[in-house]
Amino acid sequence: MRDEVRWERMFPDELEAAFAKCPVVWLPQGLCEPHGPQNAVGLDALKAWGVCVAAAKQHGGIVCPPDFWHVHETGAYATWARDNIGEARPWMTAMPVWMHFKIVTYQLRAFDALGFHAAVILTGHYGPNWLDLKKLLGILQPHFAMRLYGLPDYEACPKGFDGQGKHVADHAGVVETSLLWALRPECVDVSRFPAEGEPGKHFAMGKSARMADRRVGERMVADEVEYLGRKAGELLGEYAKHAPAERKPLSFAEIERIWAEVVGPQLPKFKCMENVPAEQVPAEDSRWRLNCRIPEGMG
Ligand SMILES: [Zn+2]
Repeated sequence: MRDEVRWERMFPDELEAAFAKCPVVWLPQGLCEPHGPQNAVGLDALKAWGVCVAAAKQHGGIVCPPDFWHVHETGAYATWARDNIGEARPWMTAMPVWMHFKIVTYQLRAFDALGFHAAVILTGHYGPNWLDLKKLLGILQPHFAMRLYGLPDYEACPKGFDGQGKHVADHAGVVETSLLWALRPECVDVSRFPAEGEPGKHFAMGKSARMADRRVGERMVADEVEYLGRKAGELLGEYAKHAPAERKPLSFAEIERIWAEVVGPQLPKFKCMENVPAEQVPAEDSRWRLNCRIPEGMG
């Protein structure tokens, strides 16, 4: 019996069997962006994908194809990039905020139309986007029978790297490097660390990265898997309590209406739609100036 939980690699009979056992869908999100010279650029989505696969193997459900396109380049993401990446070619797969969340809405529509009882969206990319994800799911929940939950992966590991909640979330530091090392060892190469004390931004490498430990990463993955399994169980329990007698899939036209009438008016209040003060906008000669300001009418 194959132990496959990745949607795109499963045969229809396997998908039906997995769905019958546990009608939960896992959506891993992230993007390609600089994560230091020691990590593959897809760290965020690779990490979320790996955690979702481990959670589905242990607790059930189906892992949908990961989304490697996520918010960046606008607002505080742009100033962060200027400060931590600088002008190096970033190999980034960024989407505008409004586009990203509309795609999420359509992804949920697809899951709901298939009949899933619960959807868990796990973002491996940080910054304020996960707050907006929770807000979006709150706005959309009344429109779907399926129960929705979204979180950044570090919410599922409050003990963090040191087990005492000190290193919980970072960017390409000890936390992210250890997690990727545990999940995708071929995507971490510590021989690529810059020389100790060498000045520079080092492609947004975290200061703590050299402390990374693959086995601690494995423990953190196990913590996340346990948390997610519990969460999936709760969502299925809630669904069972409120399950409608009959379910009808939403059409694309209905999603467009919900987007225009329900989500749209709330979009300007999303954290990722905030502009930075004029004096913080990157200088003329910075590549991060291009999209820093949210275009008129979008926010
Ligand atoms: Zn990251």
